[in-house]
Amino acid sequence: MLTSRLPNRVEPYRLAARAESLAGLIALDQFDRLSAQVGLQTGDCQVWLDFGVDAQGRREIRGRLAAELQLPCRRCLEPMAQHVESEFLLGMVTSDALAAELPSTHEPVLVENEQLNLLEVIEDELILSLPQVVYHDEAHCRVSRDQLSSGEEAESDEPAPASPFEVLRHLKGKS
Ligand SMILES: [Zn+2]
Repeated sequence: MLTSRLPNRVEPYRLAARAESLAGLIALDQFDRLSAQVGLQTGDCQVWLDFGVDAQGRREIRGRLAAELQLPCRRCLEPMAQHVESEFLLGMVTSDALAAELPSTHEPVLVENEQLNLLEVIEDELILSLPQVVYHDEAHCRVSRDQLSSGEEAESDEPAPASPFEVLRHLKGKS
């Protein structure tokens, strides 16, 4: 169980030279781009990072993250708990030109003035690991399949397309 906080910035070349590992928490409410996509999150993201230099001399970070998020259900838009985790392999570069030389196994991370913005890197990885869509089980969703089918097709057993906009329009029509 992790209890310590990760620093927002680290010196990755120094950490790689010493083959150091970092593990700790980052508060989810610091991730503005994440909240813009899926709403403000509370709690922490757990992060494990192993810094090192590979056989080709590349400075790399092997990482893993895990978080409990509240993601909006695509049908009723109510938040639902979702466990998100991912593993990643990052290659440190000092310019975009060098990023193009990395093998496809590595995602480039930009190191400027010996500094790496961990907050940005972890937020990127977390956004990449979001599931495409999440739905409540039908039994637990506020919007049932019946409510979703439009008036004239009420008899049909066809599953209705569950776009959030249609759901909203339907709810508005009801009130
Ligand atoms: Zn739902």
